[in-house]
Amino acid sequence: MTAPVPALPAKIHPLVRAFLDVPGAAEDALARFGSPAHLVFPQVYAENLRRLRAVLDRRLPSHRICYAHKVNRSRAFLRTAEHAGIAVDVASAGELTSAVDAGFGPARIEVTGPKGEALLRELVGAGVTVNVDNLWELRRLTELAGDHATVPVLLRMSGFAASAVSRFGIALADADQALRVLAAHPSRIALRGFAFHLDSGEPAERVRAVETCLELIERAYGYGLTPTVLDIGGGFRQVFTADADRFDGYVAALRESLLGRGEPMAWGGNTFGFHLDDTGVHGTPVFHKYANTVPATRMLDDLLGAPLEAHGGRTVAQVAAENMLELWLEPGKSLVDHAGITVARVEFVKQAADGSVLVNLDLSRDTVTPADQEVMVDPIVVPAVAHPEPDPPCPATTRDGHVGVFFAGRLCLERDLVTNHKVWLAHPPRPGDLVVFPNTAAYHTDLSAAAASMHPLPPKLAVAHRGGAFEVCPDADYEPAPTTLVPAASPAPRAPGVPR
Ligand SMILES: *Cc1c(COP(=O)(O)O)cnc(C)c1O
Repeated sequence: MTAPVPALPAKIHPLVRAFLDVPGAAEDALARFGSPAHLVFPQVYAENLRRLRAVLDRRLPSHRICYAHKVNRSRAFLRTAEHAGIAVDVASAGELTSAVDAGFGPARIEVTGPKGEALLRELVGAGVTVNVDNLWELRRLTELAGDHATVPVLLRMSGFAASAVSRFGIALADADQALRVLAAHPSRIALRGFAFHLDSGEPAERVRAVETCLELIERAYGYGLTPTVLDIGGGFRQVFTADADRFDGYVAALRESLLGRGEPMAWGGNTFGFHLDDTGVHGTPVFHKYANTVPATRMLDDLLGAPLEAHGGRTVAQVAAENMLELWLEPGKSLVDHAGITVARVEFVKQAADGSVLVNLDLSRDTVTPADQEVMVDPIVVPAVAHPEPDPPCPATTRDGHVGVFFAGRLCLERDLVTNHKVWLAHPPRPGDLVVFPNTAAYHTDLSAAAASMHPLPPKLAVAHRGGAFEVCPDADYEPAPTTLVPAASPAPRAPGVPR
């Protein structure tokens, strides 16, 4: 009896799985549009949105979802959000243009993030809500607004008790200064409410931030201001793994290997953010997000149902409702969770001097992961339909019939390993095979992607399931189905086993 090979099985949405199961579908998309390619599934986005909305609808009379555009440049996602009637959170002049082009009017646009002089000038008089990051922004907006425009603003706060320090937001200690500026210029800036955005997955931190913002709303009344919005930001997490036990088993084996025990599993002395010393392996790895098993809907539901001590144990949702506050959300990654994959091709397989097997791909590391992380779900190898090459000789290291490989990128740089950890495959891939990276739509594809070595950025394609078949088009050309125009008597057809 041997232990199963270490593995990181990926959770795959049934619609994505169904697409990959259509023989030749992914290959055909690459043949038409080029390889590698990012594929987005706007219908999965729409489903994520429906689920988040259902949680909000159940608990709150009044809420708004602002899709955080920065998670992905996709126009198909943006069109899906616009079509569904939600709002958008933009964090640059480019994203603002993109949102306007996708059909969002100013009443449905919120501008977050750090804003320079040029962007502030553009925002004054535009009618969009400005989520103010700092006192300079607030004062500058007041000056720029002059006497012809009232700029609606949210104040983004930070420095909540026991939260990590953030570079964003107005320090709580400066809240009164901000409120004085607002009270002094009611015709130029109008306070809509308070906002925060926390990176943390720690539920208690969000509850404390909500409590603090409720206090600030009270304090604002004292200045004659009438805020009605409580914006709790994004940060609702994704679930990458299909098997938490196997994930934990892989990480345990990886930690052993870093201590020199068992089979080597790390490329080039990589320690994945762990600290190694005489007593063992410590710290939080760069891939910790992959260990999450709590879906965004549950995080949100738990937050809305959390009791607030200062409000006699009434829940966040109850207190918001009783005070007639509109709860705003800025989800990014939770809306695009499982709504994108990246598909590459195997160029060649080689063996390094130390015996490691390197599967070279036609993409680079920055195409599938933010530079400081590590892809901790196993890529899926889809054998090419027709193989021009004979089977390669079996590489040296096999285990249970599996070959342990590292995926290497196309850049002429030592560090361009797509996986720095070993991936065990049932069959050694062959040139021309497809390699699918699951769940790449959230920050993976667009955040650190560079046209290094003059390689063009991969095309982005939208995949839709319509009339029982998959359609692939350039992301920019995608349009959501006009649901309101479909007569009730003829529901959209769907294939067996494919969820709506
Ligand atoms: C990035 C960002 C978001 C989205 O965060 P997710 O973790 O992707 O949900 C929301 N609000 C602000 C202000 C952000 O900067």
